[in-house]
Amino acid sequence: MTDAPLSVKLRKCLSGEKTPRCALHPWIFSGAIDHAPDNLPPGSTVRILDVKNNFIGYGHYNPLSKIRIRILSTDEDSLPDDEFIFGKIRDAVDARKKMKINSTAARMVFSESDFLPGLVADKYGDFASIQCLTAGMDLRKEMITRFMIETAGVSTVVERDDCEIRRHEGLPLVKGIMAGRTDVSTALRIEENGYTFFTDILQGQKTGFYMDQRENRCKVAQFATDGMDILDCFSFTGAFSVHTAPDARSLTLIDESQAALGIAEKNLAENGFSAVQKEFICDNAFHHLRKMRDKALSFDMIILDPPKFAPGHAYAEKAAKGYKDINLLAMKLLRNNGILCTFSCSSAISRENLMDIIFMAARDCGVRVKILSIMGQSPDHPILLNFPESEYLKGYVCQIVRD
Ligand code: SAH
Repeated sequence: MTDAPLSVKLRKCLSGEKTPRCALHPWIFSGAIDHAPDNLPPGSTVRILDVKNNFIGYGHYNPLSKIRIRILSTDEDSLPDDEFIFGKIRDAVDARKKMKINSTAARMVFSESDFLPGLVADKYGDFASIQCLTAGMDLRKEMITRFMIETAGVSTVVERDDCEIRRHEGLPLVKGIMAGRTDVSTALRIEENGYTFFTDILQGQKTGFYMDQRENRCKVAQFATDGMDILDCFSFTGAFSVHTAPDARSLTLIDESQAALGIAEKNLAENGFSAVQKEFICDNAFHHLRKMRDKALSFDMIILDPPKFAPGHAYAEKAAKGYKDINLLAMKLLRNNGILCTFSCSSAISRENLMDIIFMAARDCGVRVKILSIMGQSPDHPILLNFPESEYLKGYVCQIVRD
């Protein structure tokens, strides 16, 4: 039997006819709270009331975090107890089963977008990798592990709670095996879009593979034609390279991680592209693109998939400079009518911002740009309308035209 949650009172009134989208945002910051009971432990479930005592929802509370409450339910009859969390995980997993995802790897739970703020769960065949990014989810990690085994058809669950964002919640950085096999391979095989990839789900970046680009890899491959010289910048383990390899005369991969490039080489060989001319460059992309420009090198296609430059809105301006710089460098290296596939995975950079950045780079480079295709994140990473931060990945396939 779960105890009735204690109430937290907000300073504002959140109800009303013209409630904007952002008023239904699932985060409540510390400044919005008028009164909270003393000594509530991190991760407690609370009942949220507005200033007029209207019921707002139930959420997970963390006195150590600036984001003091994450709302899980706005239905007074749906207390987010264990059964509720199981139901939401099952709903999220069932939704993926209906998506015809062309991969053995998929995101099963995407935090706020699946009404489970703080929980990310990825499936890699028989393995699941979970991230509990809030105190509320961290407290329930054992239970979540069991639920993943029951709903997602996996036998082994690893935790990748080694991401920096946990520090904002006062949580330690940890990783390891939660349940199942103890001999998790560092080269787990997955199949995506008919290709094989090796992933390291315990030591690799994020949870091991960037599955949010799955459909974009096919899209980008559509524009790789006629024996192109292709530059895959921020290549990680070479998933874009593998998809474009059938049409490439040469592939150049740049990443600052030697470990990632090592796996990229294996991935290209495993998919039968040993004969394609290849170069693996372990360097800072900003520096290396400048070196290439100085040597007057050129390419037919450049893929730019940098890491998140803006961890939050406060960093948006600085990040925009980084995106402009790298796009300008890429444009300089592209031949006439060359293809630039450019991405940003920063929530704080909107689609409009990214288009402006591309425009400014083109202006400085003295080229004109046609947008051939608009890209976003894979459908197993849904965008929740009242949570704009969930729309993080934006991309464009551009044609660079020189007069
Ligand atoms: N395109 C990849 C994912 C890229 S993730 C895919 O489809 O799987 C971003 C990558 O950029 C990471 O592999 C990281 O090691 C690399 N990286 C980050 N900063 C870098 C820099 N300044 N120069 C080169 N690589 C960088």
